[in-house]
Amino acid sequence: METAGSTPGGLDASDPLWQAAPRRVKVRAPGKINAFFKVGPLREDGYHAVASTYLAVSRYEEVAATARPGTPPSDITVSIGAGSSLDPEQLAGIPLDGSNLAVRAALLVADIAENPTGVHLEITKHVPIAGGMGGGSADAAAALVACDALWHTGLSREELSHLGAELGADVPFALLGGAAVGLGVGDQLTAALAPTPLHWVLVPADYGLSTPVVYGALDALRAAAGTVADEPGQVEAGVLAALRAGDARALAPWLHNDLQAAAVSLAPSLADVLAEGDGLGALASLVSGSGPTLAFLAADADHAQELADALSGRGHRAWAVEGPVHGAHIVP
Ligand code: ATP
Repeated sequence: METAGSTPGGLDASDPLWQAAPRRVKVRAPGKINAFFKVGPLREDGYHAVASTYLAVSRYEEVAATARPGTPPSDITVSIGAGSSLDPEQLAGIPLDGSNLAVRAALLVADIAENPTGVHLEITKHVPIAGGMGGGSADAAAALVACDALWHTGLSREELSHLGAELGADVPFALLGGAAVGLGVGDQLTAALAPTPLHWVLVPADYGLSTPVVYGALDALRAAAGTVADEPGQVEAGVLAALRAGDARALAPWLHNDLQAAAVSLAPSLADVLAEGDGLGALASLVSGSGPTLAFLAADADHAQELADALSGRGHRAWAVEGPVHGAHIVP
């Protein structure tokens, strides 16, 4: 029980550390697309090695963490922000219990923090759910950064990244942002130079695809064709050179996703939308990660807007975005 002058974290209310601690911290974290994605054979441990190029894009999740004075750190509640732009049916599929990735992230920081309190996490969702854009991972990254600030934990980016890796292979990238090469199961990250943002159009679907199901479909397609996948090796040098140069036309021929055929086998209409975007003048197109979100590469910002308008005119939701952008960061 709190006494006069004490704080939920057990510090004296006159303690400068308590006074300096914010009570509410809002963090934005980007969704991602994969400009290049090679997948190796199914391993005995059930995972696949990958060689991936991640790009953080300007479609953000927002997590607002509010300290709940007088409650223990295990008391973590979560709600979906009214400003979320996804369909209500999609939002209804997000777990609001301890399995929510943002809650799991907060608990990991609470374990380390000296004076954690209970916290409420309000997640404002703009990244499609089970859309192949790492939306849940972005929520986890945002919650890590927010709780670190809220509880004055002072963890380095590297320490946060280690915590994030416990939650999923895409969480360290949502912290890092920018462009990066992911090897191993996507968790061995190396930042890539990409100083000039490129312009993209994203077309989300009104349904999700489960990542393990898409990997399973890839294994089944390979087995049916009698092909044995090579180890993924490295990301093609051409991808990294084009990103370094900020040259959309040079990047276009290198866009590749081994999961694309698997996603299309599960949701055949994706092939029609890809062809539509190509027909409307996209430089190149691909399924993002495990799908079903589609990414179309444009020559510049105007071209991306034109393409988004043309796709909207044909009844698709289409978002003009740019990437790379920064990873998880506090919003003033
Ligand atoms: P990835 O590409 O990393 O597999 P994704 O974008 O395809 O991710 P997510 O939106 O991250 O998929 O969510 C996948 C599943 O994770 C959801 O179906 C949901 O059950 C669960 N989940 C847990 N926490 C969250 C969260 N904060 N937001 C969305 N989904 C979450």
